Amino acid sequence: MNIQYVQGKPLFTTINKDKKQYSYLAENLETDVCIIGGGVTGAIASYYFSKNNIKTVLLEKKRIAHLSTSVTTSLLQYELDDNLSELQEYTTIENSLKAYNLGIKALKEIEDFIDAYENKCDYKKRDTLLYTSKKNEINSIKIEYDLRKENGLGVEYIDENTNKFSFDLKAGIISKNGGAEIDPYKYTNQLLEVSYSMGSKIYENTEVIEINHYDDYIDVITEFGCKVKAKKVIVATGYNTSLFTNKNFATKTTTFNVVTKPVSNFDGWVDKILIRDNCDPYNYLRTTIDNRLIIGGEDVSFIPGIFDENLANKKYDILENRLKSMFKYINNIEIDFKYCGTFASTPDNLGFVGPDKKHKNLWYLLGYGANGILFAILGAMMLSDLYNNIPNKDINLFKVDRFDN
Ligand SMILES: Cc1cc2nc3c(=O)[nH]c(=O)nc-3n(C[C@H](O)[C@H](O)[C@H](O)COP(=O)(O)OP(=O)(O)OC[C@H]3O[C@@H](n4cnc5c(N)ncnc54)[C@H](O)[C@@H]3O)c2cc1C
Repeated sequence: MNIQYVQGKPLFTTINKDKKQYSYLAENLETDVCIIGGGVTGAIASYYFSKNNIKTVLLEKKRIAHLSTSVTTSLLQYELDDNLSELQEYTTIENSLKAYNLGIKALKEIEDFIDAYENKCDYKKRDTLLYTSKKNEINSIKIEYDLRKENGLGVEYIDENTNKFSFDLKAGIISKNGGAEIDPYKYTNQLLEVSYSMGSKIYENTEVIEINHYDDYIDVITEFGCKVKAKKVIVATGYNTSLFTNKNFATKTTTFNVVTKPVSNFDGWVDKILIRDNCDPYNYLRTTIDNRLIIGGEDVSFIPGIFDENLANKKYDILENRLKSMFKYINNIEIDFKYCGTFASTPDNLGFVGPDKKHKNLWYLLGYGANGILFAILGAMMLSDLYNNIPNKDINLFKVDRFDN
């Protein structure tokens, strides 16, 4: 079945006119690492392996950054989708706090990248706000605030009396410098540009249709019959892993986004903070460098092969209305883009990084959860260490078989 993971016209691949193209693979190659997937995750892998002097070949089935990467809202935050206390059912507070701190480390990695290679990806550091408009959730926000504060994270608690935003807020946590926003299309392309300059080989329109495992290498076979012999293969195919394993890694939902035309004022949206509410399913909001507003959420279960356009339109309407009611002082909110995409979540909110249980040369790099981009950075660093036999204990947090019985 040809499963559609993205529907609608995505913002980032539409507004970015300068689209670099790579050729398709037309020869056999040998390499250290073959990365399958040319989204932001594959590009991050390509960058970190190249930086660590590991030879890479990246193969993308269609166009670079045109699947999930084209629709990601690209809120980069250290906090996870669920609060620390809610996650206790599936993991320890220590592990979740470790993930928070790793998220901060990943944010710093992007800054270092930009310092070294310029900000060509509209990266902008932002404070973040997690809030609730419901009285019965005030306590859970307070608990989250206390846990973060006790553990040295820079947070400020706000309530109805100190609310400086134009929307109803009963309790909220502002994390100072707790996040950032980025243009995922530009970031992916910049990473690949740098990787390419370091010797990474990159091919578009090159679908991998088969992989054959041997003791010390894997043969990767492409649609047009070319072969890449690689010591390790990195699965960076996002939400579609069926070529490599029958394992069902995560719970899949469809999440919806609407984006406005550029607005002329931001009254009531202090500091263009990144916003997430504590509802289930949650909403998430950001602004863009060209003064658009993005709101996402309203997730529903993902059913492969079925797209309900009426339902999608209802969800877009709900998001538009919510945006307008939250920001009544922002003039002329007019919707420009509507799209939705598959999203994968895991019980402990973390992605999957590391070797397959059966095939030791097959390594996953799956940035599932709302922090997918930051997890991809962490994962790529961990896999580069693994390749170079450098111990990195943090990889255990993201172990591929951690939920297996
Ligand atoms: C609406 C939405 C909002 C989101 N918001 C956020 C957010 O705010 N912050 C965040 O961090 N994350 C967010 N995410 C998650 C984020 O999208 C993912 O973490 C990230 O975009 C996934 O990138 P990827 O490269 O893993 O996957 P993709 O971009 O899907 O890339 C995988 C690539 O693999 C290619 N491929 C697949 N099979 C093959 C094959 N056989 N051969 C060759 N190539 C193949 C595909 O063509 C594709 O280009 C959001 C997701 C959605 C849908």
